[in-house]
Amino acid sequence: MAQIYNRVALIGLGLIASSMAHAMKADGLAGHIAGHAKTPETRETALSIGFCDTVHATSAEAVVGADLVVLCVPVGAMGEVAAEIGPYLMPGATVTDVGSVKQSVIDAVAPHLPPDVHFIPGHPIAGTEHSGPRSGFAGLFRNRWWLLTPVPGADLVATARLRALCEAMGANVDEMDAPHHDLVLAVTSHTPHLIAYTMVGVADDLRRVTDSEVIKYSAAGFRDFTRIAASDPTMWRDVFLHNKDATLDILGRFTEELFALQRAIRLGDGAHLHAYFTRTRAIRRGIIEAGQDTAAPDFGRAVNSAAPDGAKPRQ
Ligand code: NAP
Repeated sequence: MAQIYNRVALIGLGLIASSMAHAMKADGLAGHIAGHAKTPETRETALSIGFCDTVHATSAEAVVGADLVVLCVPVGAMGEVAAEIGPYLMPGATVTDVGSVKQSVIDAVAPHLPPDVHFIPGHPIAGTEHSGPRSGFAGLFRNRWWLLTPVPGADLVATARLRALCEAMGANVDEMDAPHHDLVLAVTSHTPHLIAYTMVGVADDLRRVTDSEVIKYSAAGFRDFTRIAASDPTMWRDVFLHNKDATLDILGRFTEELFALQRAIRLGDGAHLHAYFTRTRAIRRGIIEAGQDTAAPDFGRAVNSAAPDGAKPRQ
């Protein structure tokens, strides 16, 4: 594939940045990849793995001469990084980010960027529960959505070029405005994460069931919760602090529904429970039809895919 940017600067070198770098290197999408992360350990790891051509002790040095700068730090760090790099950005460069929340990132970053730079916020809907420079892989974005949230008046040529990069890394690209993005993600990602964190916390607190029993007998539902609840604490703290309104809105609705289900259980209202679960099953079917998961049993796990809940994996 043809080169899309001459020099890409990745600020933050964790899961998303390293996956982008591997994907760009695999297809020659960037002439040079420069990187910066906060700690020397991460910078050295990035160099030793080889997904960056150069790493720099400061974000300001990393962005010099870059025609694309990608902010890949936790949402709460975006503003301070933008303030550091603002004076060093090349005129005409594009700045994007991969933060899981969009409006607060726009509010924090935009004031620090010079007017001759194109700021096109973005969010790849792709990830794993792993973090850090060793966790990235080139295929992370394949067949996943990458949402761009350009502000009104954003440069169309710069937006099309960034879109071309995301597509070349395997993603499908959609555009929407930032507040809508934050509401959609509160439903599809942020609130489910909070529920998973809560459920794993409840199991940990419940002294009548020992930790070893929780681990030994964990069925598919709980195992999936533990996987989600193993996600990076810094990233998720920042997501909730910065997508406060939408998350609280969805959480309020969730709590109402939960109380309705609780009441149905208490009253023995099987018809309510059955109708509810029938409706939710159709949503799962929709996700499979949209190609966002497989219909394989046990949530598509390669190992243990034929085993019933709670059974040991086959050797
Ligand atoms: P990660 O693996 O934890 O990596 C974060 C990186 O940011 C680390 O390299 C860290 O450096 C660096 N960093 C933190 N503060 C910094 C600062 N002030 N200056 C320079 N570097 C700094 O995180 P990630 O999973 O790649 O997530 C990065 C962003 O992508 C977040 O905004 C997140 O919301 C978004 N996102 C994540 C996922 C996901 O599933 N993980 C999916 C989509 C979008 P050190 O290692 O040196 O501390």
